[in-house]
Amino acid sequence: PDKPDDAIRSEYVGVAVGSVEDVPMLQRALDALGELRERVVVSTADTALIETLLPLCGRVRLDIVEGEALPTAFIDSLHDDAAAIEFCFIHENASGNVPAEVLVRLAARLKAKGMQRVMLSILSSAPLFAVRKLALELKKAGIDYPLVVRYRRREGDRSGVLIESAVQTGTLFCDGIGDILALDTPLSADDEISLGFNILQAARIRMSKTEFISCPGCGRTYFELEKTTALIKQRVSHLKGLKSGIMGCIVNGPGEMADADFGYVGSGKGRISLYVGKECVEENLSEAVALERLIELIRKNGKWVDPV
Ligand code: SF4
Repeated sequence: PDKPDDAIRSEYVGVAVGSVEDVPMLQRALDALGELRERVVVSTADTALIETLLPLCGRVRLDIVEGEALPTAFIDSLHDDAAAIEFCFIHENASGNVPAEVLVRLAARLKAKGMQRVMLSILSSAPLFAVRKLALELKKAGIDYPLVVRYRRREGDRSGVLIESAVQTGTLFCDGIGDILALDTPLSADDEISLGFNILQAARIRMSKTEFISCPGCGRTYFELEKTTALIKQRVSHLKGLKSGIMGCIVNGPGEMADADFGYVGSGKGRISLYVGKECVEENLSEAVALERLIELIRKNGKWVDPV
């Protein structure tokens, strides 16, 4: 509540329930949340608690612990009128094929029962292979339950956590696998949320901030690339989802801007060309007017909103 309205927030929060003694406290906390209880994912490894938990919150996660037998009688009592249920394989030492074998078997049984509010996940510090395998086996079996891409790492230095979590989860989203991202890392909550949204943005799943694509500049650059980039950022960084390319030269710049919505490209000494998508719409403008013309173009194309 202390954050601005447009702050990036996590959409779900996880709470673990160890035993039946925890339930009254959970119930009080959920009652205090009112409608926001729909945003709480309650996890447990105890199948005997599932029936109690399903009417309480938005989603119940059943943790399937590697090496432990899973009693499956509770599946018969499941129905779609309560919370969604996520089956989460806690993957530690078993071969990367095991989570897929277990989850696909379960999913096939749930599908045969006509269940729709089901999600699947693998909780691991290295989910990449196991989740790819799961996605492949689900596809073969004709099952399309949503996948929660989970990554857990309890320790490690900041850069290691950032890189590893981005590789392990972002790669899956780039493959087109995954519907929800869930991180559990030693980072602070704010840092973790911002990491999650950066991963989703980089994988082009959800655009939650302005993106700038810029070259490093070289002998072909005839304007002050860093200074200009900073000026452009100052003017447009409130435009969520906008992709701006700022490139040093017309020779290689347009090709390197990839999928930018608008491009600001050096085209000679003190000269700038502007692009909308891949099309050059203003050629050889004076640098003195180029930024204002870029803003006009953004307006003209309906992508401008006034900063608050
Ligand atoms: S886009 Fe042009 S100016 Fe930028 S690094 Fe490549 S060649 Fe150099």
